Amino acid sequence: MSQHAGQVEPQSRPFLGPGPGPGPGRSAQPTPPAKGKAEAAIVVGAADDVFPLAARRALASLNREAARQRRAQRAEQSRRRKAKRTVAVDSSRAKTSTEALRICVQQLKWREFPTGRHLFCDIYWHGVSFHDGEVSCASQVNKYPGMMEMTRKINFSRAVRTMQELFPDEYKFYPRSWILPEEYQHFVDQVRLSKENDSSWKPTFIVKPDGGSQGDGIYLIKDSSDIRIMSSLHSKPAVVQEYISKPFLIDRLKFDIRLYVLLKSIDPLEIYIAKDGLSRFCTEPYQEPNSRNFHRVFMHLTNYSLNVHSGNFVHSDSANTGSKRTFSSILAKLSLRGYDVKKVWSDIITLVIRAIIALIPELKVYHQMYIPPGKPGPTCFQILGFDILLMKNLKPVLLEVNANPSMRIEHEQEIAPGVFEYVPSPVDEEVKVAVIRDTLRLIDPTLKKNVSQTQSTEYSAENDGEDTTESDAQSKSEASSGAVQNWPPLCLKQVFPKYTRQFSYLLIVERIALLFIRFLGIKGTLKLGPTGFRTFIRTCKLSNSNLPMASVDILYIDIARRWNIIRGERGESGMCLQAFMDAIFHMAQRRYKSQPLRQQVEALVNFCEYQLEALDEKHFLHNRTPDLKPSLTMIHPERPRSGAVSNVHLLNRMSTSNRLLTSSLPVSMDKQHVKSMNRRVTACSPAGSISPNGRGSLGCRFCRNNNQSCSVVGLNDVRSQQVKLTQMLHSCATWYSM
Ligand code: ADP
Repeated sequence: MSQHAGQVEPQSRPFLGPGPGPGPGRSAQPTPPAKGKAEAAIVVGAADDVFPLAARRALASLNREAARQRRAQRAEQSRRRKAKRTVAVDSSRAKTSTEALRICVQQLKWREFPTGRHLFCDIYWHGVSFHDGEVSCASQVNKYPGMMEMTRKINFSRAVRTMQELFPDEYKFYPRSWILPEEYQHFVDQVRLSKENDSSWKPTFIVKPDGGSQGDGIYLIKDSSDIRIMSSLHSKPAVVQEYISKPFLIDRLKFDIRLYVLLKSIDPLEIYIAKDGLSRFCTEPYQEPNSRNFHRVFMHLTNYSLNVHSGNFVHSDSANTGSKRTFSSILAKLSLRGYDVKKVWSDIITLVIRAIIALIPELKVYHQMYIPPGKPGPTCFQILGFDILLMKNLKPVLLEVNANPSMRIEHEQEIAPGVFEYVPSPVDEEVKVAVIRDTLRLIDPTLKKNVSQTQSTEYSAENDGEDTTESDAQSKSEASSGAVQNWPPLCLKQVFPKYTRQFSYLLIVERIALLFIRFLGIKGTLKLGPTGFRTFIRTCKLSNSNLPMASVDILYIDIARRWNIIRGERGESGMCLQAFMDAIFHMAQRRYKSQPLRQQVEALVNFCEYQLEALDEKHFLHNRTPDLKPSLTMIHPERPRSGAVSNVHLLNRMSTSNRLLTSSLPVSMDKQHVKSMNRRVTACSPAGSISPNGRGSLGCRFCRNNNQSCSVVGLNDVRSQQVKLTQMLHSCATWYSM
């Protein structure tokens, strides 16, 4: 035995490719073959010595080929294994979406758990809110915490109002609104003033109860004194809004558009718009409002739930007739009549992005409360329903955003007088199933994670304005993950970050929210306490002789109390985000007098971020090697600078706004970023100097370009830093296409 082993061992070393031929001292004689497994080893091992070079090369190439095949086989097996992993969807709380969701899950060959599952599922589909039920940390859920609250009529109007104060021109798509009861007097005064200024102005207003839906409790008025809820103002909060009295009509009927929007992620912001939606028609020919027709709901309100009860409601299986049609059929009609349909789409995309930007700051506050950063938690996405009205000139107006748009694919039909039954609705099915299925395709947990990130980089950096290959990317990703192939192109079109460049300057309120979140301190709260506010003032060095700490305390108490009364939270303490923004606006106006509000606020936010950067920088330098220290020059945002400057503060501002300490980045990455920023900034500004933040101009802080849309970008995460830097804050295309 030992003798046999002794013969085999020296020759059984693996064959590693063409080796040297038989050299001096090597035997050219073939070794007699041994038995069994050792036999093959002897032959292969002996090749070195026995076979001619060509034969050894052929053998090596065969070996390589075999190894390649083995690798391919293993890859295929793993792909098949992955493909076999069925995505589990918990639909037990899907409510009215159940039917459409079931169809989609079947189409995707995923697995539905209609009564829930003992083990955790990949996706939880909730019918109402994030809090509908328990969700696993590693799962995805189709609702964001706080979305329900934020899309209520009053909260949404407030969020848009804040944006209107800063960007009045950009937020004209939302009708002028007043919140009742708190702004009743303001409403009366403003209307009187407007009438005095323009005697031909004969407005109509629509009163909508907060939290109402399906047209419930809505009525029209001509004069502020007509508000019915005056008697019980405190019990019935509502929004009173300018009524769009000249809508675009088709067949003399008023209609609105229900558009589906997927908010795939809030950090980084990712928005998709469905290419098709629904148009819901009134059932009585439209007349401009007057006191004789105010009460005619079938003429003024487009709600399906109301009009379906009118004798004139037309159920149709066709997408382009009847009282509910696809939006694409309307666009086709408009196009035939020679209207510029692309412009309509472009305006709608702008409206959607701006509306979501208004919602995001508060959503982030809710998000950190329920899913604290850095802690495990579910990933959220949400389909929103945008209700849009086209004015006579085809300009879109936003009526409201629905956190829970109906995903029902049946409609009510009167089968006998007063007896209604649900029957399948082909138009609803066509639009809604596509929206849900493509949402699932986009969030598919078996897909490679980098799809959307790749897209965003490509879109924002290079392909702005082009209808690029996002569905190609999706299909490739689906194919590579072994997911279902040969799907139609996605019906959901990415619009953000695709159009980041044109909208990034609106993110100033989000930056205020990030400051707020940073000082919230204890997780699980939506309100900033007095200590948190003082710490914010101290850390950002906002207190000075003009604003001593005593005044800061008074400011806090005043604003916090006012907002708690406004929000009906009288007994509660703490400062909500809206109150914090109020405080920021107030301090900005005091500090930067004689500038427009937007510039004042921007300057203050820059200043605060700079102070936080400086602090983070201190920590950063503390932990760094000494040779790096001299290269990091901090530039005060309110002091002029000269000569070449380092852009490190910019990097830090970005990381600060993301609550990510620069010191948490690996050195190489850090240096790389600074280097790449230097390169880009130099390319943008040959002088190599960075214009001071917020000093006198709203121009690009890199190149001193005074372009109004050149504002400071807020960054969502480190990954997107490079993307955003490449945008360099220059606006170009202003049309967005579907
Ligand atoms: P709800 O949530 O109760 O449906 P909406 O805000 O959607 O409330 O309003 C219901 C309907 O009233 C809309 O579908 C639309 O037809 C009409 N409407 C609402 N606001 C306006 C407005 N400002 N101008 C014209 N019509 C409006």
